[in-house]
Amino acid sequence: MQTDSHFPCLLSPLDLGFTKIKNRVLMGSMHTGLEDRGRDYPKLAAYFAERAAGEVGLMVTGGIAPNIRGWLAPFSSMLVSKRQLSRHRLVTSAVHAQGGKICMQILHGGRYSYHPLSVAPSAIQSPISPFKPRALSGRGVERQIRAYVRATALAREAGYDGVEIMGSEGYLINQFTTGHVNKRSDRWGGSTRNRYRFAEEIVTRCRQVAGADFIIIYRLSMLDLLQDGNNWDEVVEQARVAETSGATLLNTGIGWHEARIPTIATMVPRGAFTWVTARIRPEVNLPVITTNRINTPAIAEEILRRGDADMVSMARPLLADADFVKKSRQGRADEINICIACNQACLDHTFVGKICSCLVNPRACRETELNYLPVSRPKSIAVVGAGPAGLAFATVAAGRGHRVTLFEQSARIGGQFNMAKKIPGKEEFKDSLAYFAGELERNGVNLRLEHTVSSKDLEEFEEVVLATGVLPRKIEIPGIDHPKVVGYMDVLNNEMLIGGRVAIIGAGGIGFDVAEFLSHAQGQAASSLSREEFAREWGIDLSLQARGGVRSVKAQPPPSARTIWLLQRKTDKPGKTLGKTTGWIHRLSLRHRGVHMLSGVTYERIDDQGLHIAVKDERRLLEVDHVVICAGQVSNRQLADDLQKNGISCHIIGGAHRAAELDAKYAIGQGSELAASL
Ligand code: FAD
Ligand code: NAP
Ligand code: SF4
Repeated sequence: MQTDSHFPCLLSPLDLGFTKIKNRVLMGSMHTGLEDRGRDYPKLAAYFAERAAGEVGLMVTGGIAPNIRGWLAPFSSMLVSKRQLSRHRLVTSAVHAQGGKICMQILHGGRYSYHPLSVAPSAIQSPISPFKPRALSGRGVERQIRAYVRATALAREAGYDGVEIMGSEGYLINQFTTGHVNKRSDRWGGSTRNRYRFAEEIVTRCRQVAGADFIIIYRLSMLDLLQDGNNWDEVVEQARVAETSGATLLNTGIGWHEARIPTIATMVPRGAFTWVTARIRPEVNLPVITTNRINTPAIAEEILRRGDADMVSMARPLLADADFVKKSRQGRADEINICIACNQACLDHTFVGKICSCLVNPRACRETELNYLPVSRPKSIAVVGAGPAGLAFATVAAGRGHRVTLFEQSARIGGQFNMAKKIPGKEEFKDSLAYFAGELERNGVNLRLEHTVSSKDLEEFEEVVLATGVLPRKIEIPGIDHPKVVGYMDVLNNEMLIGGRVAIIGAGGIGFDVAEFLSHAQGQAASSLSREEFAREWGIDLSLQARGGVRSVKAQPPPSARTIWLLQRKTDKPGKTLGKTTGWIHRLSLRHRGVHMLSGVTYERIDDQGLHIAVKDERRLLEVDHVVICAGQVSNRQLADDLQKNGISCHIIGGAHRAAELDAKYAIGQGSELAASL
């Protein structure tokens, strides 16, 4: 594995005998939503073609069901007949035209299928689906196997370079391979050998139908993260079965979807699970792929250099930047737009049936719609406010050729991201700021820091864009002016010293983040967890002796640095407005640290004793040293009002435009869209 570049391992080709992959990067399967409708395939083709042009070695499509039973949701993607080939050919020919390679993932949802036709080895409902599956008969099992084989034959006909057979994450094959939900007593259940037979038959027969010169990736659940998951010997045996049945590459799967251990969110340390792949690698004779939270070429290189795997799989990082590999090869790794693992525009979208995109790259999955084309007549544009909205606007507009001046009243760019990056587990937000800082320079934006703009500064510009963000909402409670009351900005921006007992008013995104921040000792807040600390906190067995990697392993979260109450007036479960795929992690993390979460709270007064509240008519005194206000925000429109008075028209974006339901996805998306249109 040697080339002359900075990333010799990552950029070296992988010879599979019948074909060569040009580097060690696999774009892992991500369901984008574009797979689900025939009319979206031109968009899907453009999405993959950009990543192929960005020099990704091998890509895998989102999961395509082999039959209706395997649908993830009603009418989601499937490949069952020749009539569907033409749409897939759009994808494969677009990728091949850019010199890329692509495999189709065959994904049968089993009991994770979100519809009443779902089937599984046994009729056991999953905790994440309202539908109880029907147990497959022996003939039913045969029918599912034949569906995989048909999908493989059709994938080959559609021009794919291979298929990935999804055997992990708790989907159908995985349901067969573990005793957790396989309670059968026929030849498909019981003994280890019987439980693997379904996977073995699928891989064997898919190989027979596909021929020798076709990639078959088998995605193996190497760590189920379930009490009743497979033990390590069983995992190794399965890997060998996949190899002898005809798989070309072995990909890593970590955790069933129902497992309550985070595997890909921001707080998971980078490369936190590659040690599992490293353990399987010497047990087999086929190249292995590792995955989860690998988001920079330096980390990927380190993993490969250490010998943990032969390839690295990255999915979200290639949504965030289609040119990830090309930039790495060209010595421009510092120009990569890093995926911050927030899940907000990708997985959270998928879970509510929306087309996936990316918080830091709103063009992802919109390659045919949102384009940043060069302008024929450059304009002089003033942007006020260098938070995410202003930064996105300024960098895209300047990239298109406009002359952009960006004013920021503080001494640094980033707006509220400067607070977000201090939250334990959100340290990577700083990488987005580093990316924006580079883009400002590369695109020649005139940055004017420590410049509070008044309407007079803006008279000479052809266009004015206000991105002045938000201000904390002022709330009325008797005693709100008491010295123990502080705002979240005092805590996060001014790093004010906070006592050992704290009440937080407001349990939205910022209230949760402030609770996380305060539960860590001050000064330690910005340090990422090591792999060992992460494993200890969530109860993962790094020695792989525990069944499923977790059985009988006690989670040992560190104690909270403070006694914390997190409060809201609504009677809902706290954290209901947090992201679909990350909210449960935030809640669990605070619970681990003993944070008291109360709903249905009435705030009565604040005095020397503390915060007086009522919960369901019961009066309580929280004897706290500080009360932190995290009660939402209002748009900062002062400058907008001044401009209006002086007859200067302007565009208003981000929090200045809309404070309710504001987040960085909205701010960056709106800034980028406006910049594409001016
Ligand atoms: P802001 O970020 O508020 O930026 C406005 C900028 O304008 C500021 O830099 C300000 O100094 C400047 N400005 C104002 N007036 C003037 C003037 N007159 N002249 C010059 N400059 C001026 N969002 C997410 O999506 N995901 C998260 O996980 C997340 N976590 C967060 C955690 C914390 C602790 C906080 C505080 C916020 C978090 N957010 C998160 C919210 C996200 O940061 C905001 O939605 C986003 O920053 C809004 O962007 P904006 O550009 O509209 O405004
Ligand atoms: P928020 O989510 O709107 O939460 C505001 C909280 O304040 C709510 O819990 C609300 O609950 C309470 N509140 C509102 N008015 C109040 C009043 N008058 N008195 C007392 N309490 C009041 O806003 P935020 O926490 O400031 O977050 C701002 C934005 O940043 C969010 O929209 C979010 O999207 C984004 N963000 C996202 C994340 C993330 O992880 N995705 C993290 C941080 C921030 P009650 O009304 O029930 O009391
Ligand atoms: Fe990564 Fe967030 Fe973009 Fe998803 S939305 S690809 S997690 S940065």
